[in-house]
Amino acid sequence: MKPKAPTHTPPPDAADRRAVAPVICYPIDGLPVPDMALYQAARGSAEKTAEIMVPPRDAKVFQVPAGHFFRITSVEGPQVGDLNLWNLHDLDERFYSGKTRALHGTHLSVSDRIWSSHPFLRPIATITDDTLDWYGFDEFGGSVHDVIGTRCDPYTHNLLAGGQYHHCCHSNLTRALADYLDCPTGDAEPHIHDVLNVFMCTGFTRDTGQYFMKASPVRSGDYLEFFAEIDLLGALSTCPGGDCSSEHSSDTAACYPLLVEVFAPAKRMLKDWSQPPMNGYDRSHGV
Ligand SMILES: [Zn+2]
Repeated sequence: MKPKAPTHTPPPDAADRRAVAPVICYPIDGLPVPDMALYQAARGSAEKTAEIMVPPRDAKVFQVPAGHFFRITSVEGPQVGDLNLWNLHDLDERFYSGKTRALHGTHLSVSDRIWSSHPFLRPIATITDDTLDWYGFDEFGGSVHDVIGTRCDPYTHNLLAGGQYHHCCHSNLTRALADYLDCPTGDAEPHIHDVLNVFMCTGFTRDTGQYFMKASPVRSGDYLEFFAEIDLLGALSTCPGGDCSSEHSSDTAACYPLLVEVFAPAKRMLKDWSQPPMNGYDRSHGV
């Protein structure tokens, strides 16, 4: 929180300095534009090949081949999900929440892309459908599907409230990945990264700039759908906060499952599509 009473006197030109208009840090006009018409046509031909139900306060891992779609659906009741994504063949390439936020803004929707970590930095998924795209930004500055939160975790919980809580999204994702990799949780944990908060409604308070959450507008049947640009490994946690209307990192909120479905389009539909190349920077860093 910013101090309520500054200790330094504003300079005479304070108003002028504040009045300077902002400039977008990363204009994305130069980025390759996703061919949404191609994706829509491909989606029309797609058939379901797999589904995974993620139980409440738990996480599951799933695979999505490049060129397939995956859909996350709220079922049974309003539920927020914490999503991690990796290159199926190289876990070092993973979703880069911070750069995705810098490029597309605080909350994601249709045609926004999921960018991967350095040195890869390429789109690894594209959002193709979002039944909550009507929400926009509310009067509090809140919106859905954020890349501003991190993931609820037992370390922060311990700092703020003490105690040992084991079903934060961070731990759920860790257990699920450890199970998939057949390794100890300590080996899986470093692969867990900041998430896309699917269906979560969040923002920053206007007066103090603090991260806030409020009851998600998601209802049963709402979904967020992606096109996999590369072979993906995903992990989805059903947040113990449920709809995140009051608290997380506890067992008090009502929690529901989330459904993950994978869809394969007809091969002919993607004959003109190719996977995004690795980032073009030569990695010499001036040496
Ligand atoms: Zn969570």
